[in-house]
Amino acid sequence: MQPFVYTALPSRVIFGSGTVSRLSDELERAGCRRALLLSTPEQADSLHRIAASLGPLAAGTFTEAAMHTPIDVTERAVQKAQECGADCTVAFGGGSSTGLGKAIALRTDLTQFAIPTTYAGSEVTPIIGETSGGVKTTQRTLKVLPEVVIYDVDFTMSLPQRLSVTSGTNAIAHAVEALYAQDRNPVISMMAEQAIAAMGRALPQIVANPKDPEARAQALYGAWLCGVCLGSVGMALHHKLCHVIGGAFDLPHADTHTVILPYAMAYNAKAAPDADAAVARALGAADGTSGLVDLATRLGSPRSLKSLGMPESGIDRATELAVQNPYWNPRPIEKVAVRALIAAAWAGDTPKPLD
Ligand code: NAD
Repeated sequence: MQPFVYTALPSRVIFGSGTVSRLSDELERAGCRRALLLSTPEQADSLHRIAASLGPLAAGTFTEAAMHTPIDVTERAVQKAQECGADCTVAFGGGSSTGLGKAIALRTDLTQFAIPTTYAGSEVTPIIGETSGGVKTTQRTLKVLPEVVIYDVDFTMSLPQRLSVTSGTNAIAHAVEALYAQDRNPVISMMAEQAIAAMGRALPQIVANPKDPEARAQALYGAWLCGVCLGSVGMALHHKLCHVIGGAFDLPHADTHTVILPYAMAYNAKAAPDADAAVARALGAADGTSGLVDLATRLGSPRSLKSLGMPESGIDRATELAVQNPYWNPRPIEKVAVRALIAAAWAGDTPKPLD
């Protein structure tokens, strides 16, 4: 066995249906008395209902969370936290709401509670990306890891079908890259395989019936494990590509992950045979790449960067950006092969494992 280092990330996780009813007990358990509740504008109604259920434990609400955590929004939220004397935050929603809670914690050290409603997984990572003047900066610090996560399956029932598919595939990407991470370890690899299997089973059932409670529970469970993978080990070519291509062409975050994932698997499959075999086992496929392609076909996933709005003329620029300051990757980053990957993903050609 290879030697390894495993660092556990401290977080208290409550999982089930109707678990939001335990929020006030959890606040009191942590010694918190004045919560600032956070959401995007779209989820404000649900947030206000949660605030009402907390009575005096709710000190205020802030419903301006936005994608990629813009710093001007964070500054207004910090001001609101100070004005209402908040001693903790409750982030309700996807990665955008969670990101705002993290950004507030980075500046104030307020205790964070998260109630995730997508499969992004940010709630269990010590990672924060913030945007200022169109530039996104990411850092890793335990200051931003939420202390308590309440997974309430009921809130995921309303997640639209396309977002369920892309957010779920985004989660799978965290687990796939964890399997071939330079700093992988047996605990995280075990979680990653189980996470891909849970998500791979659940997503087709959700597409068939978005209100299937068992499928929704399996997907949220898988999303938790995928988030732990992302937070625990380093990510590789797939995440680098999504980061630079999504940023350069302003493409939707989860959709970009969904398109790129089978191509990144194909690029790395031969260099990471154990990871390829684990993805294949998890998806019940002959190999990792065909498993991911079959899943995307069954889910009706977006399959090309072209369909997301990236111009063909952007392929060379994307290649340049992808090979600059590369993340560690099991297969060397070769410019010609990376360009071929991006060109195939742009056109939606069938991904084929490289020799
Ligand atoms: P999101 O939080 O932006 O949500 C997308 C939209 O869906 C929003 O309008 C939201 O209000 C709505 N929505 C969320 N849950 C819903 C539900 N259950 N029903 C109906 N509508 C719902 O999207 P996301 O993909 O969860 O998060 C993306 C952001 O998270 C990006 O900024 C990304 O960079 C960040 N992220 C960070 C990490 C990390 O570890 N730091 C990890 C993953 C993602």
